[in-house]
Amino acid sequence: MFSRQFEYLAPTSLDDALSALASTPGAKIMSGGQSLIPLMKLRLFSPGTVVDIGRIDGLGDIVERDDHISIGALVRHNQTASDPLVAEHATALGQAAAWTGDHQVRNRGTTCGAMAHADIAADQPAAAIALGATMVARSSSGEREIPAQEFFVDALTSALSDDEILVELRVPTSTNGSTSAYDKLGRRGGHTDYAVAGVAVWVQVTDGSVSDARIGVTGVGTRPSLAEAAASALIGTDGNDEAITDAAALVTDGITVIEDLYGSVEYKTHLAKVFTERALRQALAG
Ligand SMILES: Cc1cc2nc3c(=O)[nH]c(=O)nc-3n(C[C@H](O)[C@H](O)[C@H](O)COP(=O)(O)OP(=O)(O)OC[C@H]3O[C@@H](n4cnc5c(N)ncnc54)[C@H](O)[C@@H]3O)c2cc1C
Repeated sequence: MFSRQFEYLAPTSLDDALSALASTPGAKIMSGGQSLIPLMKLRLFSPGTVVDIGRIDGLGDIVERDDHISIGALVRHNQTASDPLVAEHATALGQAAAWTGDHQVRNRGTTCGAMAHADIAADQPAAAIALGATMVARSSSGEREIPAQEFFVDALTSALSDDEILVELRVPTSTNGSTSAYDKLGRRGGHTDYAVAGVAVWVQVTDGSVSDARIGVTGVGTRPSLAEAAASALIGTDGNDEAITDAAALVTDGITVIEDLYGSVEYKTHLAKVFTERALRQALAG
């Protein structure tokens, strides 16, 4: 199936892209096109104008700055998956990127695009909230920072306004004793495809006990969510097997689990517990 006709703009500067967005109601940004193009071809979504940001220089790098690593708007999933800074400071995000789709998708799709698209079963958003990341949004009237846990509003709905581009994802650099991990069941088994349930964890261990923790869950509700009760249960423990099991039992507390084509509420709740345990064991072992 072919998309409806649309106007295609390919600006070579961020300012031009922002002006195009501001002056063209209903215009949509295209980064990797791995979600936008399929939706357009299925005619589930038909923007009148597509603003392709792929020719803009300076958006494709991962760099360390002050207290965070910065992931630019055009960083591809494969780049995130193999970058040494991501491996050091944001292990969960690197794992989530490595398990996003197939090679073609990972070579074209972008980490920031996955955030902006806000699919309910996307992998990397769970890592972003667990890692305490910040989204940097720019419009022609300025720039603002949005904490990751406030960015994902609902299914396919982020906190971005129509005239904003997500220009950067900032992940805090790791400190002594902080680790993270991601694990999931994909729709086609193992780690392949969108998450039926996926869990990203971040833990800070100080003097042998867990002093802080965040657990991000994807695939089970209408948006990636922090499992606050489970994280609280882990804090103050020494992160042993019993503490992990007790925390994992609470992972869907406060999250509305929904049934979909890939699993019942009971199945998804069970998977969320299993992958919380696995991700916590992995993080605490590292
Ligand atoms: C076969 C297949 C398998 C997939 N499997 C998985 C999977 O296992 N796990 C997973 O998480 N995802 C999966 N995906 C989705 C994939 O990760 C997409 O790459 C991602 O969702 C969107 O990134 P993109 O750069 O391609 O964005 P695009 O398709 O270009 O854009 C998607 C949406 O986000 C908006 N957008 C994109 N970038 C920006 C920006 N910088 N600022 C503002 N708005 C922006 C666009 O306007 C559009 O609405 C799969 C996709 C396909 C086709």
